[in-house]
Amino acid sequence: MSKFIFVTGGVVSSLGKGITAASVGRLLKSHGLSVTIVKCDPYINVDAGTMAPLQHGEVFVTDDGAETDLDLGYYERFLDITVGRDNIITAGKVYQSVISKEREGKYLGQTVQVIPHITNEIKERFFKASKGYDITIIEIGGTVGDIESLPFLEAARQMRPDRNHNDTIYIHVTLIPYLSSSDELKTKPTQHSVNKLREIGIDPDIIVCRTEKSLSREIKNKIALFCSVPQEAVIEAPNAPSIYHVPDILKKQGINEQIMMLLRLRSKKWDYEEWSSYVSKLTESANRPSVKIAIAGKYTQLKDSYKSLVEALEQAGIANEINIDFSFLDVQHKNFQTDIKKVDGIVVPGGFGDRGIEGKIDTVKFARENNIPFLGICLGMQCAVIEFARNVLNLKKAHSTEFNKKTPHKVVDIMEAQKTVKEKGGTMRLGAYSCALKPSSLAKKIYGKSAIKERHRHRYEFNPKYMTACAKKGLITSGIHKKMNLPEMVELKNHPWFLAVQFHPEFKSRPLSSHPLFDSFIRASIKQSKTSGKRKEFKI
Ligand code: GLN
Repeated sequence: MSKFIFVTGGVVSSLGKGITAASVGRLLKSHGLSVTIVKCDPYINVDAGTMAPLQHGEVFVTDDGAETDLDLGYYERFLDITVGRDNIITAGKVYQSVISKEREGKYLGQTVQVIPHITNEIKERFFKASKGYDITIIEIGGTVGDIESLPFLEAARQMRPDRNHNDTIYIHVTLIPYLSSSDELKTKPTQHSVNKLREIGIDPDIIVCRTEKSLSREIKNKIALFCSVPQEAVIEAPNAPSIYHVPDILKKQGINEQIMMLLRLRSKKWDYEEWSSYVSKLTESANRPSVKIAIAGKYTQLKDSYKSLVEALEQAGIANEINIDFSFLDVQHKNFQTDIKKVDGIVVPGGFGDRGIEGKIDTVKFARENNIPFLGICLGMQCAVIEFARNVLNLKKAHSTEFNKKTPHKVVDIMEAQKTVKEKGGTMRLGAYSCALKPSSLAKKIYGKSAIKERHRHRYEFNPKYMTACAKKGLITSGIHKKMNLPEMVELKNHPWFLAVQFHPEFKSRPLSSHPLFDSFIRASIKQSKTSGKRKEFKI
């Protein structure tokens, strides 16, 4: 049976609970234990798929097609594991399942209540996700004191009395604010949030304190005293140079040893080398020369909207010993055309809706005509096809039926299987699908194999009817999902690096194994950075 570690948050949101949970996971994995992580999201949405990226950051997609919170991306990246739909528990999903069991008559005679029915449903999901792992880390979203997260906290509380005392521990991540006027760190909000946790019946075993300034021994003693934990269980978490430094910061204060002791576990080995060498490479890359990469999208106000993409590009930068200088270009803004002239590589990322679509198509044209390395992702590939049809095949009114239902040239069209879909939630083409790569294509060369699997999230596709016409003029389909005859990758002949994909490769890039597509794109951009200046004038 798995041991459980619950991670809760106090005082304010956005403290980095997900990073703390993932960092603890990385450390325990280094001890030779098998670790999985689960996120509890207290919102009523059944999944994150129907939420705008500007509200919650990107929607992370798993191999098995779950649309989740971006924290699951951190879990995969930190632990180098593959998570799935069992690793995300939303209040919406829990209530939906309890209500449908009630309708089926499974609780006949009973009044269905939050305790025990909702909490039992939550606990069943904890156990399901934990099967086969030594350790299950469960991050509870929201802040202690919120109404929404109460059923999750209650379920977490019950896990200790339900089982042996040493099978469950609680880590509380909290904030120690600094008041500049009195030059003081304040512990009161932490005391209050721990009290709140106690009211619910949870006694935290470890307190992780987010702080801008180092905590003195005196402050640590005070927190320990008021929160009833040993002094060494007060862990300081200052702002780190990068999120990947957090495991190190926690390790230096012995968090892993304390957890092992509390859970009565023995270390099987200590294997931290790979992680620390990645962190050293990351630190060194800050002083390296830069390559300028544009992300031409429309969610530029919230960088978390492109989290996995940025991470994948950074990981490829580190692998190629170069710094990435990002420029987030809002394609709806008129200045973007001037800004795009200065870059070494262009990414048009995924997206929905027609806002900024013409700007994205113009961006592709610029990359194509000026030999700038170009990577199109999902909507980015669809834009590449539209641009090529309009400007090379001369089908001036070519478009996607997502944006113009009446276009005479439906070069991007809704997939057959999507035509009958009525409900929006969870109905896109989601998760990992196989893709066969064309011999002697750039795609095949990059992946070094002829079959791959990548993750999808879309309803529209490059209309196969236009594949031959495009190929004749130089835009070849280099990847295909054979079973359904869906074009998955296109690339330009006679261009240094122009590749667009219907899937989201960014979801599979990991710090310890950067993704071949991003790797190759960054190498092409480095090459480009050496020749820039010789570029044609920008005209669209
Ligand atoms: N809106 C497009 C579609 O549904 C692209 C989706 C995406 O970029 N993830 O096909």
